Formats: sequence, C-alpha cells, structure tokens
Amino acid sequence: MSYQSIIITIGDELLIGQTIDTNSAWIAQQLNHIGINVKRRIAVADERSAIATALDESIPQASLILLTGGLGPTADDITKPLLSEYFDSPLIVNETVLQHVKQIFTKRNRPFLERNLKQAEVPENCQVLFNRLGTAPGMWFEKEGCIIISLPGVPFEMQTIMSEEALPRLKERLAGNHIIHKTMIVAGVGESFIADKIEDIETALPPHIHLAYLPTPGYVKLRLTTEGPDRNALQSQVDIHAELIRQRLGTIVAAMEDLLPEEIVARLMEEHRLSLSLAESCTGGYLANRITNLPGSSAFFKGSIISYDNEVKESLLKVPRAILETAGAVSEKTVIQMAEEARRTMHTDIALSISGILGPGGGTAEKPVGLVWMAISDGRRTVSREFHFFYDRLRNKEQAANAALDMIRLFILDDQH
Ligand code: AMP
Ligand code: MG
Repeated sequence: MSYQSIIITIGDELLIGQTIDTNSAWIAQQLNHIGINVKRRIAVADERSAIATALDESIPQASLILLTGGLGPTADDITKPLLSEYFDSPLIVNETVLQHVKQIFTKRNRPFLERNLKQAEVPENCQVLFNRLGTAPGMWFEKEGCIIISLPGVPFEMQTIMSEEALPRLKERLAGNHIIHKTMIVAGVGESFIADKIEDIETALPPHIHLAYLPTPGYVKLRLTTEGPDRNALQSQVDIHAELIRQRLGTIVAAMEDLLPEEIVARLMEEHRLSLSLAESCTGGYLANRITNLPGSSAFFKGSIISYDNEVKESLLKVPRAILETAGAVSEKTVIQMAEEARRTMHTDIALSISGILGPGGGTAEKPVGLVWMAISDGRRTVSREFHFFYDRLRNKEQAANAALDMIRLFILDDQH
C-alpha cells in the first residue's frame, strides 16, 4: 500500500524567513527511505486557527501527517493546547515525561519552574514519543484513519524522536512499499542539452519511473524515481534506464550516484593512487576548502598555493614577470606556469591551476568579467582551458570550482585511454 503524507511546519519564524525550514527536508528524506511519499508541505504561523485549518485540510487527504514546532514552554508556542482541543482530549501530566523533565533540569542545574510542569503534560489520548534530548515529548494521534505526529521544532530533538520513536513504528505499520531514487551527476552542460540528447529514452520510460532534472552551478543532477512493492525489481528497472542514459551521454556523466564533485574527484584519486595540488588565484582557497571538507582527503591532497596577487604568482609559482605584464594574470600562459610549478614544488602527480575575473569589477573588452583560465598538468601533459561564467561573484566562484573539479576528473579519465 502506498502511503501519502503531509508535513506541516509550525512557527512564525518560518514565515518571515528568519529560520529556514530544514525539518521538512530531513523528514521527507527519512519518509522516502521507508517507502512513504510526501505529497505536500505546508508552513503555518503559531496561530490556533492556522494550525487547525491545516489539519482540517490535510487529514482527509493523507494517511500520515507530521507536525513540527510550537511545543516550547513559552506563550508563543501553542501547538500542544491546540492539539488537546482539536482531538478533544484534556491535557494530563505524563509521569514518565515528568521524571525525565525534572532530571534534565537537575542535570542542567536550573530551577524547575511551574511552567516547566507543562512540558510534562500531553493530551490524554495520544501516545507519547520519548524525547531523550529535550523536554518536549513527541505525540502520536490517530483520527479518521490518519496518523498525526507532533514533534518539537528544534532540529536535533525532532530528528532523534523521529529516528528512535516514530520511524520504527511507522516502518512496522507501513511495511511493504519502497521508494527508489537513483541520482546521476552530469557535468559541464545545461539541462536542456541533456533533455535533447535523451529525449527518446525519457519518452520511453515506463509510467512508474519519473525523471527529474536538478540544475546546480556547473552540473545537473538527473534523478530517476519509482515506487512499488518489489524493491529488487524496481531497483533493476531504474538501474537499466540509468545505464541507457549513461551510455547516451558518455563522459559528461560524472557519477551514477548522488555525489559532490569533490567526492567524485576524491574517489578517482584514490582509485588511481594519485596525489593532487592546486594553485588558486580567483577561487582564493575555496577549491582547497571543498576538498579538505572531505574526511580522508589527506590521502591524496597535498596543498594549495593561494597566489591571489601577481607578486605571489611570481615569487612562489615562478610565473615570469614578462608573462604577467604581457599576457596578464588571467591568461593561458600564466595558468600553465602556475600548474606546472605547483606540481613541481608540491611534488604531486597532478596539479591544477585557476585564475580568473569573477567580477563585478575588473573586466575589460578583451577580458570580460567571468573569464577564467585553468590548467592541469601531470608533468608529461598539460591541458589548459578557457571558461566564461555569467553570474555574480560568488556564483562564478562556485561554477569555477565545479568546473575545475570536473577538469581534474576528465584529465584522469583521458589518461586511462
Ligand atoms: P519550537 O518547537 O517551535 O519551540 O521550535 C524551536 C526552535 O526550532 C526554533 O527556534 C527554530 O530555530 C527551530 N525550528 C522550528 N521549526 C523549524 C523547522 N521547520 N526547520 C528548522 N528549524 C526549526
Ligand atoms: Mg516556535
């Protein structure tokens, strides 16, 4: 049986954009893992009528509703009294929760106030979902064939109650449905280019397999999704169609799973036992930051020389002053010298260099904003490439970093032929 769920996030802060609703995204991922579809997400204010209306509308449409937020002990949080009223069930003190709340206060060395007693109250007809990390318990209600779960807004408390209490029960109740996602990473081209290339494959997809395009700066995620009772059959159907797409698109397919560009590079580096260094000008160390965010990157990454100023390009990377003065800092000659010298001086198998004009200022007719040169070298072979990006400074930086990572991937692949 396929379950349809609705997520309702509660809080004024969500509606004014002060807090970004990360709870919905996390809950949706978890529900998908156990075969539950999310068909709607709603955000409402800390207002009785807003919450009640959202429930009125959602209960007939869904078999599961998840609420987060509004469970704090202060007057602005009204979800619990509203639920007590909505389910016509008086608030009573739950002894287990009360002991737990008192324990928390003792541990934190804080006085237990009258209002904290309220934290241990729950509507009589709910099942309590234990909150190991906080004072607001989760609550599980059932009405008209619909399960309604209320959880605190604090993300780590919500996540713990979901993982330890709610998901295991839901799994038991809803066993037998599976949702399969397969994500492919396609680098260096736009989504319409991809759509054109695979139009016939997309049209011929079985109706239960959906294809989604998710563009990001520098690459596109293609996601195939399907749902049904037989996990293995679904997985193999999705795999077959993903493979058809991969064969059609060729080397622009950077990964057959949802990986970051730096993860793709890290895997290749490890697989081929290569080491990497960088010479970064316009990305100012961002590329090195992305790579070193990965645990274990020290196995292949040696370092980056951030040669932002020409003086550093000249002194540390031995770019001749004549090149900087004639060809300029953003030029093929400069990036080739940067990559070759970075490789020599940091003793790596491969080095990549990058120098560009990210904007908003600094462009000329000959060298417009968004022009970025990159080079990559392994000591025998040096490849250079010119890129043009068209966004604001930070997005250009993001694009440049992703393009650089893909340049490393393609360089390694080329070496295999
Ligand atoms: P509450 O349970 O309403 O007292 O929420 C406590 C805190 O959790 C708020 O201050 C927010 O920072 C955070 N929070 C509430 N709802 C969300 C949400 N949907 N996504 C992320 N954080 C949230
Ligand atoms: Mg709140």
